Amino acid sequence: MAQAPAPLTPDVLTIPRKDSGDGTNLVGMTRDGLRDALIAAGTPEKQAKMRMGQVWQWIYQKGVRDFADMTNLSKDYRALLAHHFTIAIPEVVSKQVSADGTRKYLVRIAGGHEVETVYIPEEDRGTLCISSQVGCTLTCSFCHTGTQKLVRNLTPGEIIGQVMLARDDLGEWPKPGRHPKDETRLLSNIVLMGMGEPLYNFENVRDAMKIAMDPEGISLSRRRITLSTSGVVPEIARTATEIGCLLAVSFHATTDDVRDTLVPINKRWNIEALLDALKAYPKASNSERITFEYVMLKGVNDTDDDAHRLVQLIKDIPAKVNLIPFNPWPGSPYERSSNNRIRAFANIIYQAGYASPIRTPRGEDIMAACGQLKSETERARKSRKEIAAEAGLV
Ligand code: SAH
Ligand code: SF4
Repeated sequence: MAQAPAPLTPDVLTIPRKDSGDGTNLVGMTRDGLRDALIAAGTPEKQAKMRMGQVWQWIYQKGVRDFADMTNLSKDYRALLAHHFTIAIPEVVSKQVSADGTRKYLVRIAGGHEVETVYIPEEDRGTLCISSQVGCTLTCSFCHTGTQKLVRNLTPGEIIGQVMLARDDLGEWPKPGRHPKDETRLLSNIVLMGMGEPLYNFENVRDAMKIAMDPEGISLSRRRITLSTSGVVPEIARTATEIGCLLAVSFHATTDDVRDTLVPINKRWNIEALLDALKAYPKASNSERITFEYVMLKGVNDTDDDAHRLVQLIKDIPAKVNLIPFNPWPGSPYERSSNNRIRAFANIIYQAGYASPIRTPRGEDIMAACGQLKSETERARKSRKEIAAEAGLV
């Protein structure tokens, strides 16, 4: 019998956040961009590299938000920084905590848009599922995010800002001189599996993940970051060379006919084109296996024949298959396959020599599970110009 969901406890966060001025936000800049900004504000060129390194460490290693706290900089220089810049991350509007410990943050970004970020604690890791866009331009028929009309790309600052706000909430900025090992961190892994298609926002996702991986900052190994794509084939090679993280692909079907309806981007780049791009990925990124995500939809893609076809399709690729029991949302047109069906499907893949874990849905009681994220603020689509203006880019 299904368990009754735990009562919801919306819990409004009151993390004190001092914005140190109203100038340009430094969060999300690349190292070079930060250096240039410091020079433009009057830092002598000769000192700029060193100052950039110091400011970088304060922001990303120590989590400081107020220039006054940057105690290895002179008072005058701190005042200059405060005059020109801010250190600002998106605002947490609310936090919900699931009966299983999953935390869902509703995050407000420039222009009043909202995205969701989900923290999933597990025994050996803590994974933060971050969003790369408000909504998604793709319209996968089983995904709640895909029904949202409003779409805009998140800036690098808004993407890395999700990691920073989760660290704030978890109280996980390291004490001076201490660098906790990845495996003992509360936030040890990042998955780009929230709202949006990360490869339709490639540069911003790349710049944000470079910050997450930077050894003098948040310092997560590239092997602890997984980018999930629906199959934007032309960007897959760049993901290997320019980010180098692990890759997951929303596969979900074993024939083009079925994949066309579930993941419509398949009409542009079909299964064959996708598999060709994936074959080159492990070598180009020097990473191990690709994760094939496969949502289990009753009577749609879950037969034994599908499982056998899947094994055939991936046979030349180092892979694991992650089976995701469908997570329903209000009005969703599909049903989850039965547990027995999912187990039988997993078994066929396992017998063929592939790991085939079944993903445990997390945070279902707070609509935080895979594919359930969707902002309430649904409005008309904006022009590129309006979007850029809201993000402070023009
Ligand atoms: N846009 C990217 C990443 C976000 S979706 C992508 O599609 O890969 C993260 C994962 O959740 C994808 O594998 C997606 O197909 C899956 N998903 C979407 N809706 C779902 C649902 N209702 N139930 C289970 N998984 C879902
Ligand atoms: Fe977009 Fe991914 Fe959802 Fe498809 S599954 S609509 S690509 S977020």
